[in-house]
Amino acid sequence: MSYPRLQNFIDGAPMANASGDVFDVINPATDEVIYQVEVADEHIQQAAIDSAKAGFAQWSAMQPIERARILHKAVALLRERNDELAKIEVLDTGKPWQEAECVDVVTGADAIEYFASLAPTVVGQQQEVAGDFYYTRKEALGVCAGIGAWNYPLQIACWKSAPALAAGNAMIFKPSEETPKGANMLAEIFIEAGVPAGVFNVVHGAAEVGQWLTTHSEIEKVSFTGEVGTGKKVMQSAASNLKDVTMELGGKSPLLVFDDADISEAVSAAMLGNFYTQGEVCTNCTRVFVQRGVYEQFMSELLERTQKNIIAGDPLDPEVNLGALISKKHQQLVLEYIDKGKQEGATVAIGGHALTPTSAPQGYFVAPTVFTDCDDNMTICREEIFGPVMSVLVFDDEQEVIERANNTPMGLAAGVMSQDLRRAHRVIHQLEAGICWINAYGASPAEMPVGGYKLSGIGRENGLEAINQYLQTKSVYVGMNQLESPF
Ligand code: NDP
Repeated sequence: MSYPRLQNFIDGAPMANASGDVFDVINPATDEVIYQVEVADEHIQQAAIDSAKAGFAQWSAMQPIERARILHKAVALLRERNDELAKIEVLDTGKPWQEAECVDVVTGADAIEYFASLAPTVVGQQQEVAGDFYYTRKEALGVCAGIGAWNYPLQIACWKSAPALAAGNAMIFKPSEETPKGANMLAEIFIEAGVPAGVFNVVHGAAEVGQWLTTHSEIEKVSFTGEVGTGKKVMQSAASNLKDVTMELGGKSPLLVFDDADISEAVSAAMLGNFYTQGEVCTNCTRVFVQRGVYEQFMSELLERTQKNIIAGDPLDPEVNLGALISKKHQQLVLEYIDKGKQEGATVAIGGHALTPTSAPQGYFVAPTVFTDCDDNMTICREEIFGPVMSVLVFDDEQEVIERANNTPMGLAAGVMSQDLRRAHRVIHQLEAGICWINAYGASPAEMPVGGYKLSGIGRENGLEAINQYLQTKSVYVGMNQLESPF
């Protein structure tokens, strides 16, 4: 059987590999191969480096405002092609159309718009010192690598390329082999907008291709999104030539529901933070701590809404709000975690099994699952599951819940639901997490820096500070006085 082919995108166009090696991409909602992708072999890898170096020379020499103008064109193209791109994301990831249509492309375009707008605002400083003076220049790093996860493939490619390109760098991007197409589409759009060839190349393949990027001596920085364990390996490889790293890793984030919270809103936050994108979101609040006085009310509304409002099925159906998990293997892993939860004594309040919706019977679905009678030490309360599995835990007082919420080596996100203004801020300030919400969950606008504490990451994406992570400071000291020397 012959399938459509996706090639690596190098130097402004798709490029054929020399080895002929390919891998399959499967639609998680149908269990069918939808296209094949050529692996980035040595021929492609060398071409990617050569073209990125040439692209960098041209791009970094342009005025920031010219780069901004071009990137703004890319933003317009992304928005024009929203539906076509959203459909690609649905077919590659299995997520619902109703999410992809208004989130994935939109938030990717927003990040490029934000950093394009920042590009001309980058300035150095100047200071007089004893009659001499120095000034600083903010210079691009060179060729950077981006390595992405499969849950938000196009958005991740945009979030990484936006600050990198705005600052004048070139980027070689490797999407997850499970969701490779969005990055190629972005590369095409950059070219159409006028970004020079080689400034954004896309290479395809599994861990070996990622490893090649992280060890290559001519790559100056790696921005990685993925699991904590992979992140550690990437940092080790990156140490070979002391590459700069940004790490966006996993989490086991807490949501704290206090007894003065608006309970309907708290249920909305818990459901958004566990069932959106069928639970495959890094910031998910998989540990929901509910204060004892409102536990019954919270559970009753949570179970009712989970029962009534979740529609699993063909992700392209606009009514569907729960899609398929990324792969059969991942579905199995999530089901194994659910089994462990049962074995370790937690109670399945709802869900706890695979789903076979009539409109997508072959898809890798897992029912939205809520565990009660949980203990902080259970596997389901300690490890990232990355599926629609929520653990509800009961607490009595503020200090107790802060300690329990922080009792994890990860620190990506946290949320507090409370109508008490002082309490909400007081508690959030004590939570060890980089991305926090009060009476909200999951919103992540381009203006807001995001990244993890502890094992959840290094550096930040989005927000003002992210552009500085793609710039280095050159100090230039200018002697205005006669140079004195003892020699
Ligand atoms: P992985 O860590 O398995 O993979 C991430 C990327 O790294 C993929 O492109 C993968 O390639 C590549 N890769 C694998 N091994 C290596 C290696 N040794 N060297 C270099 N690259 C390598 O993560 P998943 O794709 O499974 O994504 C899910 C994880 O991502 C979750 O833990 C989630 O929390 C995290 N995540 C974090 C986010 C954040 O912003 N903090 C956002 C989104 C997800 P391939 O897939 O082709 O094998």
